[in-house]
Amino acid sequence: MGDVLLRKSKRAGRVSVRVHPSRGVVVTVPYAVPYEAGVRFLMSKKQWVLSVMARQKASSGVPLESGPARIEALRVEAKRYLPERLACLASRYGFVYGRVAVKNNRTNWGSCSTRGNINLNLRLMLVPWHLRDYVMLHELCHLRHHNHGPAFHSLLERLCADYFVTSAVTDGKTVWTCAFPLASRSEYPVSRALERELRTYRIV
Ligand SMILES: [Zn+2]
Repeated sequence: MGDVLLRKSKRAGRVSVRVHPSRGVVVTVPYAVPYEAGVRFLMSKKQWVLSVMARQKASSGVPLESGPARIEALRVEAKRYLPERLACLASRYGFVYGRVAVKNNRTNWGSCSTRGNINLNLRLMLVPWHLRDYVMLHELCHLRHHNHGPAFHSLLERLCADYFVTSAVTDGKTVWTCAFPLASRSEYPVSRALERELRTYRIV
C-alpha cells in the first residue's frame, strides 16, 4: 500500500479510507476514536484499497513516447493533418484565426495568442481523434475569450455538445461513444469529460 497517512479529524463522524492518486492512502479517524481503530479498519479494506490503487495506476497518464526520429515522423503527419482539421472546425463554427503552427512542445497541447495565432502540439497525433478535435475547439474558443472564465467555458461546452453529441461526428472510421454521464452534475458535462480523458495522456 505504500505509506499510509493516519489522521484525526474533529469533523469526521466515522473512520474512513481514501485512496488519493498522488498522496496515497489516507485514513481519517474521528477525534474520540483511537488510531488503532483506523488501522483495523484499513486492514479490513486492504483488498479494496489495492484494487483502487491498481486501477488508478492503469489510468494515470499514458506516457507518449517521443524519441527524435519519432518526433520528426509525427511532425510530418501532424502538418498534413492538423491545419486542415483546424480549418474545418473553424469554418463550421465561424472562427477566423491568423497563423497555425505545429510545435514540438512539452508544456501544452495547444495555445492561442491574443493576435489570433494558434499553435498545436504534434503529439496530438498520438491521442484519439476526438481529443484532438477537442483541443482544437478549445483553442478556437480562445479567439473569443482569452482566458478560462465562465464565458469561455460555456462557449466551449456549447460547441462540444453540438459537435460530439448532437452532430455525433466521426473521423470516418470510428464513432465516438459518449463516455460521460448524461445526468452529470457538472456545469460543463461534455467538455469536462473530454478534458478528463485528455488528462489520461501525459506529454513526456
Ligand atoms: Zn485554454
